[in-house]
Amino acid sequence: MIVGGCFCGRVRVEISQPIVSALCHCLDCRKLTGSPYSYNVIVRTAELHVSGSPKEVPKTADSGNDIRNYFCPDCGTPLFGRKINSAGEPDETTVVRAGILDDAEKLNEQKPQVEIYTDTRLEWISPIEGASQFKGMLSQ
Ligand SMILES: [Zn+2]
Ligand SMILES: [Zn+2]
Repeated sequence: MIVGGCFCGRVRVEISQPIVSALCHCLDCRKLTGSPYSYNVIVRTAELHVSGSPKEVPKTADSGNDIRNYFCPDCGTPLFGRKINSAGEPDETTVVRAGILDDAEKLNEQKPQVEIYTDTRLEWISPIEGASQFKGMLSQ
């Protein structure tokens, strides 16, 4: 199990081995993390365990998807996000903000495998060597 949590420590998460790790340069990630891009690990929703009560923030993405992002209600740390399908169920995968993971060693090992929305990558940021590059969303 890989563990992590928010800045104030009131929300804690546990995940299993990520399916993929991705840098995202999309404009929503920029806003919701307050950073030029986000670094994420994608995990199976069933294998994400959360303690505490994250605040849910819904938004319709450019793609038309219903996206819910979750933040610590006390300190505001962005924790994770996922799609809600047409039946109103959470998607089977969840995008976890990698910076909330506690183990720096693990993060060093977990190099980004893909970069998405590179069309909006800031010009002073170089592509990560060895990471697959996608102009938009990761094709499924
Ligand atoms: Zn917090
Ligand atoms: Zn993004």
